[in-house]
Amino acid sequence: LGTNHVRNTFKQARAAAPCIVFIDEIDALGRKRGEGLGTTGDRDADNTLNQLLVEMDGFDPSSGVIVMAATNRPEILDGALLRAGRFDRHVLVGLPHREGRRAILEIHLEGVSVDPNISLDSIAARTPGFAGADLAGLINEAALLAARRNKSIVTSAEFDEAIERQMLGLQHKGLVYNDKEKRIIAYHEIGHAVVGALLENVDPLQKVTITPRMLGSRGVTQFEPQEERNLQTESELRDLITMTLGGRAAEIVFCGEATTGAQNDLAQATKIAGDMVRKFGMSPLGSRSYEAARQALISSSVSAH
Ligand code: ZN
Repeated sequence: LGTNHVRNTFKQARAAAPCIVFIDEIDALGRKRGEGLGTTGDRDADNTLNQLLVEMDGFDPSSGVIVMAATNRPEILDGALLRAGRFDRHVLVGLPHREGRRAILEIHLEGVSVDPNISLDSIAARTPGFAGADLAGLINEAALLAARRNKSIVTSAEFDEAIERQMLGLQHKGLVYNDKEKRIIAYHEIGHAVVGALLENVDPLQKVTITPRMLGSRGVTQFEPQEERNLQTESELRDLITMTLGGRAAEIVFCGEATTGAQNDLAQATKIAGDMVRKFGMSPLGSRSYEAARQALISSSVSAH
């Protein structure tokens, strides 16, 4: 994309009015100016953005051309793009909530033969954080699995496996642990599960497995989220830390010493504890935040390592 391309696009738009110019992934061309290293590429990018700003300023509101753009990274856009007369109306399209996910599943299931006993509510409940494209991919994956198994309809077994694949990655069939390692991993996962089950603020246990996954996890303990969360309480965060450290604790109690398997857990627990002190004012230091406010942290209750 260069200045000529921008100029031509808007020329065509004026000729075709009334019309809509839609720029997908505008962050690729609308990045803050002057932040590169001053290379030729950076200067070209800055010039392209300048041309876009010039074109947008040149529009008469009655010209019949509407300019729209989409981005996943609004924070890196140049401020000039968002000023009045340019992209001055912003619509946030967030991730779908449970009801929305159910509706999206229904749309993508049209034309797919599905076991009538399948509960879409349950699939929607188990897929927090999935975008529309993820849900479409999930159904596609489940349908492929059913076809591979010579089934005429997609059953809950395929959906279960497809959800797992999307959340945890493919099973790593080539990775084999010796018996001692398997025992340690099993104790580690059960440590998460038992500690989680004993805590008031941890979701109900859904699944414990020591099947290794391509994304690098040795085992997984999953808790089923009960509802959408936008806030987390101090006691929920404390319980999450406790559950996260349950794997390491079980290693020490049942296998006699710690292993390297808890690295991700320790990193996660440290992050939550650090955020509680630095961001959320949940420590004896008092109600103060040492970091600029950002989007709230919502930690997931999946413990994978
Ligand atoms: Zn763990």
